[in-house]
Amino acid sequence: PTRVFSGIQPSGGLTLGNYLGALKRFAEMQKDGVETIYCVVDMHAITVWQDPAKLRQQTREIAAAFLAAGVDPVRSILFNQSQVTAHAELAWIFNCVARMGWMNRMTQWKDKAGKNAEAASLGLFAYPALMAADILAYRATHVPVGEDQKQHVELTRDIAIKFNNDFGVNFFPVTEPVIEGVATRVMSLRDGTKKMSKSDPSDQSRINMTDDADTITQKIRKAKTDPEPLPDSIEGLKERPEARNLVNIYAALSRSTPEAVVAEFAGAQFGSFKPKLAELAVSVMAPISDEMNRLMADPAEIDRILGDGADRAEALARPVLDEVHDIVGMIRSR
Ligand code: ATP
Ligand code: MG
Repeated sequence: PTRVFSGIQPSGGLTLGNYLGALKRFAEMQKDGVETIYCVVDMHAITVWQDPAKLRQQTREIAAAFLAAGVDPVRSILFNQSQVTAHAELAWIFNCVARMGWMNRMTQWKDKAGKNAEAASLGLFAYPALMAADILAYRATHVPVGEDQKQHVELTRDIAIKFNNDFGVNFFPVTEPVIEGVATRVMSLRDGTKKMSKSDPSDQSRINMTDDADTITQKIRKAKTDPEPLPDSIEGLKERPEARNLVNIYAALSRSTPEAVVAEFAGAQFGSFKPKLAELAVSVMAPISDEMNRLMADPAEIDRILGDGADRAEALARPVLDEVHDIVGMIRSR
């Protein structure tokens, strides 16, 4: 059976990168024969400082984004991580399976800890073990993520394999990352070599899911580009990261391919391509942000959906944890 798990951190407002690389695909994965479990990973978010009131607000906002993007809370399980304690329990066991050296090699750790690793939280270092726990508490087989999370899913595989070996069992599945489509790595609008990120200090670097039409249009108009017109084939986009990024975004938003976009706009200047892209981005994003706003007006309903999802998630994870405790040799006598 195919069981999908993925999560998003309530570490800020969502970007077009999160939408195209994650949310849109989460919605598409809901089909017959596939169990889909989606999580607002609040425990991951606090690996860097989060103001408590903001964390609560952002958790609801991200839940609203899942729903607005088409995640059906009946068909899928949608909840926030901290409500299901199995994640924390399994993460501790994985902290004891994973090796310091594995964590040290994670590029996200290096990027986020920056030059002052001594001052980073212990949680930021252990982040991938918690992510492995998120996935394996459900024995999920497939994890849709953006390119930037590939290394963490590979580490999840290493943890599953080492756990199975250490205890001589064939318990955890070896999970597959699902990294598909043309928007698995949406880049910053200011720098085509950096990924678009909700935690980038520059708001001009990203399109937020809640940006209004004027803001989206203005950000795309100001997006960094080179002076050349669009080429007539995608080979012409090599060494042109900013141009490539805008073409990819256009392709993803129009459910087309970069090849078709380049064929359509061959020879066009950015001065004429950018308004078309802005119009397309607004037409796709505006209904989603309207729906988010509508949902956000009723926080109690969002909390109810998260609570219901947590109950269903708990029912799946608890028997897995019972078996894990048994495998590890921990007595459960009540
Ligand atoms: P942060 O900067 O706080 O890490 P983030 O924007 O990277 O925020 P996450 O919550 O870490 O968001 O990731 C949620 C999902 O969005 C993951 O599957 C991740 O791979 C995907 N994702 C994040 N940024 C991009 C991007 N620029 N392009 C495509 N997918 C992305
Ligand atoms: Mg991230």
